[in-house]
Amino acid sequence: MSPFSMQIWEDSEFRLTQIIESTPLPIFVIGADHTITHWNRACAALTGLPAERMIGTRDAWRAFYREPRPVLANLVLDGAGEDVVRTLYGAKVRACATVPGGWEVIDRAESRNRWLNLTATPIFGLDGSVIGAVETVRDISSDKYYEFELQYRATHDQLTGLPNRALLSDRLDHALRQADRDRKPVGVLCVGLDGFKLVNEGLGHPTGDRLLKEAAQRLRACVRDGDTVARFGGDEFVILAEPTSRETLASLAERCLAALAAPYQVESHESFLTASVGLALSPDDGATVADLLNRAESAMHRVKAQRGGGYLFSEGGGQEDATRRVAIRSALVKALERREFSLHFQPKGGLRDGRITGFEALLRWSHPLLGSVPPSTFIPMLEETGRIVEVGEWVIDQAVAEAVRWRGAGLSMAVNLSARQLWQTDLPERIAHALLKHDAPPDCLELEITESMLMRDPEQAIQTLKALDSMGVRLALDDFGTGYSSLSYLKRFPISTIKVDRSFVSEITTSRDDLEIVRAIVTLGHSLGRKIVAEGVETEEQRQILAGLGCDEIQGWLLSRPMPADALECFMRQEGPRLGPA
Ligand code: C2E
Ligand code: MG
Ligand code: MG
Repeated sequence: MSPFSMQIWEDSEFRLTQIIESTPLPIFVIGADHTITHWNRACAALTGLPAERMIGTRDAWRAFYREPRPVLANLVLDGAGEDVVRTLYGAKVRACATVPGGWEVIDRAESRNRWLNLTATPIFGLDGSVIGAVETVRDISSDKYYEFELQYRATHDQLTGLPNRALLSDRLDHALRQADRDRKPVGVLCVGLDGFKLVNEGLGHPTGDRLLKEAAQRLRACVRDGDTVARFGGDEFVILAEPTSRETLASLAERCLAALAAPYQVESHESFLTASVGLALSPDDGATVADLLNRAESAMHRVKAQRGGGYLFSEGGGQEDATRRVAIRSALVKALERREFSLHFQPKGGLRDGRITGFEALLRWSHPLLGSVPPSTFIPMLEETGRIVEVGEWVIDQAVAEAVRWRGAGLSMAVNLSARQLWQTDLPERIAHALLKHDAPPDCLELEITESMLMRDPEQAIQTLKALDSMGVRLALDDFGTGYSSLSYLKRFPISTIKVDRSFVSEITTSRDDLEIVRAIVTLGHSLGRKIVAEGVETEEQRQILAGLGCDEIQGWLLSRPMPADALECFMRQEGPRLGPA
C-alpha cells in the first residue's frame, strides 16, 4: 500500500463509506437533524432511490413509507431509551411499543405491505448527546407473510375464506364486552343449509363445494361491513351482527333466506337450496359466547325440524332442548328394530260431493321413556343420518298393506317421501316390489314430494318421477307454496295433485294475500290439469272459502285428525265422513 493510499484508508470518512457501501445489508446514516449522510447501494436497491437523491435530504422516512406500497417499518433502536427515539424520530413515532431490544414504530398493519426491520444504532457525541444514527434495514416481508399465512389459516375456513369458529368466537366475545359497555344488543344468526348432505351425495362433493362458496358469497353480500360471516363447519354459517335489534335481525334473516333461495347455476342446469336460520340476541338470550351460539343453533334446529326454509328466534332454554335432542337422536337408532314406529292415517275428502277420496299415512314414534316424539323432530334426524331410507321403506310397506284393505272402495293411500328416497336410483323398483308383495294396484298409492326436493336436481327428479308415473303410481306435490316454486318446472313434472300448504289455509280467512295466492294456485293448477288439495283445513269457514275458490279436495282436522288403522276402520264404518252440503 502506497503512503498516499494509506492516508486515504486512514481517512475515517472514506473508510466508513467503503464499509457501508461494501455490505450487502441496506444501511444509511442520519445526523441529529435527520439529514442523510450515507445511503448505501443496497439501500438504493431496496428503495429504488439512488444515493444522489437521498444524501443531504431528510427523506429517509418518506423513502420507506412512500405510496403506493407503504411499508411497515419495525424500528428497533439498539439499547436506546425513549428520549433517543423521540430525538431521532419525534412526531413520526405514532405509536410506540416496547419490544425486546428497543422500540417498535407501528405505522401500518396491512399484511400486503412490505415489512422492513430498521435497526438504528445511535451515534453519541463526546458530550454524550445523540448526534445521529446508523440504521440497518432488513426486509422481513417473507417472515411476516408466513406469519400472516399461519395466522390466517388458523382463523379462516379454507374453502370459503370466511372466518372460522375460533375467529368468530373471538369476535363475538369482543362484541359482547363492548355491548355490555354500550348497553347495545349483539345478534347471532345461525344459518344451516337444508339437506345439504343430499347435495353432496347427489351432485358430488366438487359441486357441493361450489355451492357452499356461492352461498358464502351471498351471505357476505347480505351483511354490513362491520358484521362477521363465519363458516361453522359443513353446511352451517354463523353471522355476528352488532349492534342490532330484534327487527333488524329478523330482516337480516329474511335477506339471507332470500339470497340463498335464488337459483344456483350448476353446470347446465339450475339447482336450489333452502336454509334454516336460528336467531339469538344478547342479553335476552344469553350474555356469553357459548350461550348465544347454543341458542341460535337450537333455534336453527327447530326451523329444520319444521322442514326448514325459514327463521325462528331463540326461545330460551336452549340447553334443555339440546339435551333432549341428544337423547332422541340416540333412541332413534333402535326405534325401527324395537317396533316403536306406527302409522296414523288422515282422510282426504272431495269438496264438492263430500266423499272420502283417500288417506295420507303419517309416521308416528312412541318411545317408552321419551314419549311420543313429533315427526317434525325425528324425521329430519332420520334424514340427516340416512336412516329415513329404511324407515321410509317400512312406511311404504305398511301403507300399501293398509291401502289394499280399501282398494275396493277406490280409495288411495298417500305416503310422504323423503329426498333421500327420491334420489335412490332404484326407487321405482322398490315401489314395484312393495306393490307386488301386497298384490296392490299401482294407482292405490300416491307419493307426496315437496318442491325443494325436486328443485335440488330437477332433471334427475323428472327421470325418477316419469318412471313412477309410467308404472301408474300417482304423484302429489306437498306443502306447495313454501319452497322456491319454479312454475316453469311445474309443467314438466308428471304430478297429478298439488297440496296447498297449511300456512296459506290457516290465514285464508284473515289475509287477503293468502286468499289471492290460493286463488292463483288453484287457477294455475287447474290450467295444467292438476288436482288441488288444501291441507290443514280446520274450520267450516275455511272450507267454504276454499270451495268458493274451486279447490278440489281438503284434508285437515275439520274432516278428521290422523288416526291409527283401527280407528280409521270405525271412522269409515260410521256414515259420518261426509263434508257439508255438496
Ligand atoms: P305433511 O306431509 O304436510 O303432513 C301433514 C301434517 O299436517 C301432519 O303433521 C298432520 O298431522 C298435520 N295436519 C293435518 N291436518 C291438520 C290440521 O287441520 N291442522 C293442523 N294444525 N295440522 C294438521 P305430522 O303428522 O306431524 O307430520 C309432519 C310432517 O312430517 C308431514 O307433513 C310430513 O312432511 C312428515 N312426515 C310424516 N310422516 C312421514 C313419513 O312417513 N315419511 C316422511 N318422509 N315424512 C313424513
Ligand atoms: Mg304430506
Ligand atoms: Mg303437507
